[in-house]
Amino acid sequence: MILPIYPYGNPVLRAECEDITGDTPELQQLIEDMIETMHGASGIGLAAPQIGKNLHLFVVDISHLEEDYEKDEGQPFPELWKNPIVFINPEITDESETLSDFEEGCLSIPDIREVVTRPTEVQIRFLDRHFKTHDWRVDRLLARVIQHEYDHIEGILFVDHLSAFKRRMLRRKLQEIARGNIETDYKML
Ligand code: ZN
Repeated sequence: MILPIYPYGNPVLRAECEDITGDTPELQQLIEDMIETMHGASGIGLAAPQIGKNLHLFVVDISHLEEDYEKDEGQPFPELWKNPIVFINPEITDESETLSDFEEGCLSIPDIREVVTRPTEVQIRFLDRHFKTHDWRVDRLLARVIQHEYDHIEGILFVDHLSAFKRRMLRRKLQEIARGNIETDYKML
């Protein structure tokens, strides 16, 4: 089921998130719904607060980048990236000192894209949807998406990383989004 996405300005995006304590049919359904919602909105990541749940949970799908990856890297696209990746109770345990700039957008903040500086690589420990533990060192786009989604479960939005000047420039646009005066081709609350 496609769920409505909560827009910038909704307090659920800023509230504290809780750990997931166990596997339940409701959790598996929620994960399915989040993946469907992300795909329905052509997103590459979606965090639980964005659909109104304050849980340490997000989903990422970069499978459509397989061809580019193989061309750029000259090595096969990792098997685990060919499907949506589910991150339960994730923890970023390390990040590189090297930083990268990349233009980000967010399904909760439609029509705004800005360059954000973040560590190029991160180490993340998480449970997948079968509650198997993984500890990954990731870089580039996957590291970028993971950090953006991880921010969401900490109540942080990508616009928080911008300079005060940039945020001032975006203030009106953000207010319009918070008021619901925004057209999207996916369902928003
Ligand atoms: Zn986002």
